[in-house]
Amino acid sequence: MQVQSWREDAACKGIRPGLFYPENEAEERKAKAVCGLCQVRECCLEFAISSGEPEGVWGGLNSRQRRRIARSRRDLRVFSAV
Ligand code: SF4
Repeated sequence: MQVQSWREDAACKGIRPGLFYPENEAEERKAKAVCGLCQVRECCLEFAISSGEPEGVWGGLNSRQRRRIARSRRDLRVFSAV
């Protein structure tokens, strides 16, 4: 599997991956703080939304927040097709 080039510049590179699969809000805030410093945040977020990543913090958003964006985009496509 090809590694996306944006991952090379990720702020989380070298950080324990488990940090981005938080078990409580305090852990989630720490993960999001790293994402807040990340220069490839948008690429990461788009990857997670387009691939339907079901878990974890990607692009600074948790799975619920990503699903909301995906739902909004689907709704927009439906409305614009009418
Ligand atoms: S946005 Fe967060 S999870 Fe995504 S690459 Fe950057 S630091 Fe890692």
